[in-house]
Amino acid sequence: MTARIIDGKSFAEGLRGRIAGHVERMKTEHGITPGLAVVIVGHDPGSQVYVAQKARQTVEVGMHSEKYELPETASEAEVLALVEKLNADPAIHGILVQLPVPPQIDAKKIIETISPDKDVDCFTPASVGKLVIGLPGPVSCTPLGCLMLLRDTLGDLAGLHAVVVGRSNLVGKPIAQLLLRENCTVTMAHSRTKDLPDIVRQADIVIAAVGRPEMIRGDWIKPGATVIDVGINRIDAPERGEGKTRLLGDVAYAEAAEVAGAITPVPGGVGPMTIACLLANTITTASLINGLVPPSDLTA
Ligand code: NDP
Repeated sequence: MTARIIDGKSFAEGLRGRIAGHVERMKTEHGITPGLAVVIVGHDPGSQVYVAQKARQTVEVGMHSEKYELPETASEAEVLALVEKLNADPAIHGILVQLPVPPQIDAKKIIETISPDKDVDCFTPASVGKLVIGLPGPVSCTPLGCLMLLRDTLGDLAGLHAVVVGRSNLVGKPIAQLLLRENCTVTMAHSRTKDLPDIVRQADIVIAAVGRPEMIRGDWIKPGATVIDVGINRIDAPERGEGKTRLLGDVAYAEAAEVAGAITPVPGGVGPMTIACLLANTITTASLINGLVPPSDLTA
């Protein structure tokens, strides 16, 4: 068997197109321009690239974009004051503080200060609570992207056995919650799980969110299963030239693609969905803040 490749790059492109349509309708029908503020503290090069991409895509879909760059030496009080100001700003519907932040700043305190109404990363305890009990609100971006790709690939997910490898607050736990909401039977695995290959072999859906290059092998995959590889692992690639690197997922792609029914590549699978889902969440929060029903095609 050779798996169908789940093309997250082109799905994300289509999603951004739909988001642009929703933005246009919110402007013309309700006089609302969804606004996203991104805050970055310090000069981490990876974060700089990521924040620039977010700001560019926000503008491309027609949203209002604000970017705040604070110096590496910024105090916690300064960041908290900026978040409070954005909480109160009616032009802003989503606030994202790029992590990690420098050590003098308590990331937990910053996150807890973001208004849950504007928490487009779905990091605050209130947003996580809504996700768990199924109330409307933003949904963690990467998990929402995985869910959209799964629905597009499989349609109805009810009754399927999903094995989620990894239990982080960022990826594993929210994905498991979303799959439960879809009526999957969900097994969560982690570093203390025994007989992991045998558990993965039972899965109709495998979600790999571990952070270990190619840990999940082809012979762990049930024939025909759908494999969503969230892992992004940068490894040295001297064959490409001195100092060059390449990205690998958590799944041994070439092996797994021989057995799976469908699989996301790395790069080009889940990765491109994350920013698109951040924009989707900004439409959701802008809708809810204004008493509108969020578009059903943008949320869980
Ligand atoms: P974390 O390090 O926070 O969590 C990793 C999880 O994997 C933990 O629950 C850990 O278990 C589990 N784990 C570690 N080793 C093993 C093992 N040998 N067997 C089984 N489980 C194991 O990572 P994240 O969830 O933040 O990220 C996971 C991956 O996804 C990373 O590669 C990251 O770069 C990528 N990522 C990609 C995104 C995207 O946009 N595509 C977005 C976010 C992350 P335990 O809890 O027991 O320690």
